[in-house]
Amino acid sequence: MTNTQDLLALGRDYYVPVYRQRGMVLERGRGSRVWDSDGREYIDFSAGIAVCGLGHAHPALIEALTTQAHKLWHTSNVFHSEPPLRLAEELVAASRFAKRVFFCNSGAEANEAAIKLARRHAAAQGRPPERRVIVTCRGSFHGRTLATVTATAQPKYQEGYEPLPGGFRYVDFNDLAQLDAAMASGDVCAVMIEPVQGEGGVMPAADGYLRGVRELCDRHGALLVLDEIQAGMGRTGTLFAHRQDGVVPDVVTLAKALGGGIPIGALLVGERAADTLQYGSHGTTFGGNPLSAAVARVALRELSSPRIEANVARQSQAIRDGLAATNAKLDVFSEVRGRGLMLGAVLKPQYAGKAGDILDLAAAQGLLLLQAGPDVLRFVPALNIGDADVAEGLARLERALQAFVTA
Ligand code: PLP
Repeated sequence: MTNTQDLLALGRDYYVPVYRQRGMVLERGRGSRVWDSDGREYIDFSAGIAVCGLGHAHPALIEALTTQAHKLWHTSNVFHSEPPLRLAEELVAASRFAKRVFFCNSGAEANEAAIKLARRHAAAQGRPPERRVIVTCRGSFHGRTLATVTATAQPKYQEGYEPLPGGFRYVDFNDLAQLDAAMASGDVCAVMIEPVQGEGGVMPAADGYLRGVRELCDRHGALLVLDEIQAGMGRTGTLFAHRQDGVVPDVVTLAKALGGGIPIGALLVGERAADTLQYGSHGTTFGGNPLSAAVARVALRELSSPRIEANVARQSQAIRDGLAATNAKLDVFSEVRGRGLMLGAVLKPQYAGKAGDILDLAAAQGLLLLQAGPDVLRFVPALNIGDADVAEGLARLERALQAFVTA
């Protein structure tokens, strides 16, 4: 019999303490339900931070993983294998804009590749290093490598890691006038943006904002790089989030739900920069690993289905309705924002900074929930979550919030 306290002690003793895991050990999952090592059951509104788009233990993903596991696990990029070749073709077709794909293992790596590509693209145009600036938005999150944490325009992720790489400039999200001014001198080679900021508080691009960004990029010869690592793969109601904004990007980065829970990232490049990175200019050992690619092919097929799109719309409305009903009783949220199944409930000023406390209370009620900063509860369940799990999860949340306001 597993002793949960012993396991938690291992984490305390042996992990580099960069995370604050909650006090349980998750053991198995099915769909949108998860069980811990004490046999307690949870509704999962977190999906591994927007990764398990098809929930846990999806039969088609298990089938893809085990079939490939019996054939070939890894080849490196010195040799071809079929799953990543097929996945590249399928992603290009599904994207409606990309010409080529580079596979890697995580979101940060996909963005790192995008940053390198943008710089090389500018270099190939004869721009000197000081005219290869990349603009990103305050409140963004692009990863934890040195370049991506610099792209992440939030001081709390950067402090103590100086000197940071140069060549980044920050503007306020959803402010076209600021971006216009930031690009005026003609030294910007790319603008990198999340269509819906995730970690920064679940903040969607305003109507027309990305179209305005596209126009500015065109005017200044800059690439439009969209980080869809969290917002992509169906989460916001369309397979690619930017479809709702009516823009065609030059580069899109994906990770998280692309593998349905197995690590994989991808850089999708459109016509303008498709031939920028040539032989020897970039690479990674595990990128396009046959195991992860085999699973991602099935995840992509499932997440592209009209059934998923319809369910995202249905459950998004159900969560919004449920949060509104709870708020009518408890008056805890000032706003619910986001798109599809990427929703944020903003705490009223008197509860600012308390999102973490609510997550603890939610876990005690049997609900796995996330925050997006200290003031926002984040809802990113599996895209195939059913009516009963949504209703039960919302009921558990209401009990947690009841305990919170009466504490
Ligand atoms: N970009 C966005 C929008 C993200 O939400 C994240 C992770 O939360 C990343 C990049 C970094 O991805 P990873 O943690 O896989 O490196």
